[in-house]
Amino acid sequence: MTTTRTTKQWQEADSKHFLHPFTDHQALAAKGARIVERAQGVYVWDTDGNKILDAMSGLWCVNVGYGQRELIDAATRQLETLPFYNAFFNTSTPPAIELAELLTEVAPEGFRHFFFSSSGSESNDTNVRMVRRYWDLIGQPQRQVIIGRNNGYHGSTMAGASLSGMSGMHAQGGLPIPNIVHVEQPHWYELGRDMTPEAFGLKAAQTLEAKILEIGADKVAAFIGEPVQGAGGVIVPPSTYWPEIQRICRKHGILLISDEVICGFGRTGHWFGCQTFGVQPDLITFAKGVTSGYVPLGGVMVGERVAKVLIEQGGDFNHGYTYSGHPVACAVAVANIRLIQRLKLVEHVRDDVGPYLASRFEELRDHPLVGDTQTCGLMGAVQMVKDKASGTPFDGDLAVGMICRAHCFANGLVMRAVGDRMIVAPPLVITRAEIDELVTKARKCLDLTL
Ligand code: PLP
Repeated sequence: MTTTRTTKQWQEADSKHFLHPFTDHQALAAKGARIVERAQGVYVWDTDGNKILDAMSGLWCVNVGYGQRELIDAATRQLETLPFYNAFFNTSTPPAIELAELLTEVAPEGFRHFFFSSSGSESNDTNVRMVRRYWDLIGQPQRQVIIGRNNGYHGSTMAGASLSGMSGMHAQGGLPIPNIVHVEQPHWYELGRDMTPEAFGLKAAQTLEAKILEIGADKVAAFIGEPVQGAGGVIVPPSTYWPEIQRICRKHGILLISDEVICGFGRTGHWFGCQTFGVQPDLITFAKGVTSGYVPLGGVMVGERVAKVLIEQGGDFNHGYTYSGHPVACAVAVANIRLIQRLKLVEHVRDDVGPYLASRFEELRDHPLVGDTQTCGLMGAVQMVKDKASGTPFDGDLAVGMICRAHCFANGLVMRAVGDRMIVAPPLVITRAEIDELVTKARKCLDLTL
């Protein structure tokens, strides 16, 4: 921060000049943004001095929490040594090489090659180009179609937003781009309560097979999904869902892409969400948690099926970004992964705070506004309902979530609202006492929303 100003002065300058992502600027100008100026552990402070428990890890990023000295030192050292060099034209840098090497330690078995970008969206654009290149190289160029899911989120670039199944995004800018289609999401509470979660999981997965048969398997390149749909509202799929998706992809020879931008790096209680659900994808998208958001970095983990073809038969792959393998970002990622290992954060989520969050969220089910709760590791959702007795949800009515979120803000808690679901994804370093604070505040805000 270069200047000291009052909150009002920051807000005025903000609404005058700064175009924010996913924001109605008239509404923002009327309210004024909350200006967050510093952070430590699981808390952030705004310019009015309010201390806020950040139960969203910024934007699902800050896995190791705020203020971690190792990451700050790694960035500083790398900025002093070599702030930038590219990975084009037969050059490389030590941090990018070290990161690729280190990722082989934590990636699921079979992943030994890594392509770097600066974000999840760019990484999914890379996926689109990479899988089509793969099919070209093995003599099946007609395999162009990529199948995503309704309400999935894969980014905001043309390809990322097309892979996403968000109608609000598709309504702007002529999306989706050609050869991207969508199938059902495994959202049992909204779509399947007339059957068991297990039966619904199979039914939702089988919409993929129906779509493949409709298009013709010989035209389908890949299926992409998040192990747990994050931005769509923390939709944890029934246990039957992912094994059936894997079976269908294998049966039709289709590549499986696990988008782990949120689920990766410990969030679900394993290093990667596909491990939590027992699935072996061909490609993995990552970003956010790889650097805990301290600096931007993303990428694609490329399994051997695709890597072998690209490397041995591919020649030039005419794709890449100036910041692919950015040395400062890679140095921070190395420090971040080492810290996750040293603090045993994956085990902390799996064995301690993940189950604790689940049990504390279950207690919220007695609340008159709550129809259901779901968690997976350190992701959680509270499903609010219009009618507790029948469990009827609010039918896409956004107001209730916005009201609850505003109460959270005013009471020192960041929770996100997705329609009528209130969701959390706190830093992995969170303690049981901090989870108690989170749940106590969440209950109070649900009371205020009634
Ligand atoms: N994929 C998933 C699963 C995401 O949740 C996100 C962002 O939230 C993205 C991709 C896009 O990442 P980015 O915003 O870094 O481009």
